[in-house]
Amino acid sequence: MLAACATAPTKPSPTVSAAPAPAHSALKVCAGMGVSNAPKTTSDGRIINYEATTTVSGAKLMRAPVRGCLSSGFGPRHGGAGRMHKGVDLFTRTPGKIFAGGAGVVESVDTQRGYGRTILIRHNARVKTRYAHLSAYARGLSRGDKVRRGALIGYTGESGNATAVHLHYEVLVDGRPRNPMTVGR
Ligand SMILES: [Zn+2]
Repeated sequence: MLAACATAPTKPSPTVSAAPAPAHSALKVCAGMGVSNAPKTTSDGRIINYEATTTVSGAKLMRAPVRGCLSSGFGPRHGGAGRMHKGVDLFTRTPGKIFAGGAGVVESVDTQRGYGRTILIRHNARVKTRYAHLSAYARGLSRGDKVRRGALIGYTGESGNATAVHLHYEVLVDGRPRNPMTVGR
């Protein structure tokens, strides 16, 4: 599990806008970065057919549980030859709030190799979400806590194998990573 974000975003030029739109209405691909596995966007960078939430095996989830832009997409890097990217990266420039993607129970709050400070939430028997590279956890957050969708759970950072402040977000169904941008469609 080394190198959760083998090609995590590097710091962009100072002119890049980090938080172009609320996570609840639209999501943009980050401008001024080389974004791997980027979804199709409109000319102003908005992801086409983006929906703020989806339902995955009975769990209602946010596709992007921070305010930021998509700096790396899901899937194998470099056209299939590279390392699998098991989630999406959401760049926030500076430490920003991370919200629980869905209602559930906190399964772990700990530091993991490559991922850095990490939270895992179990939403139901099949669905979990993982949040990695945090700078800090929400105060008092502990294993076993029940959280609502949208609850503050931590702050983005660059702990573990990361080169810019972002959230690495994974949606796991039966333990297998799925694309947070399209899962549930
Ligand atoms: Zn990542």
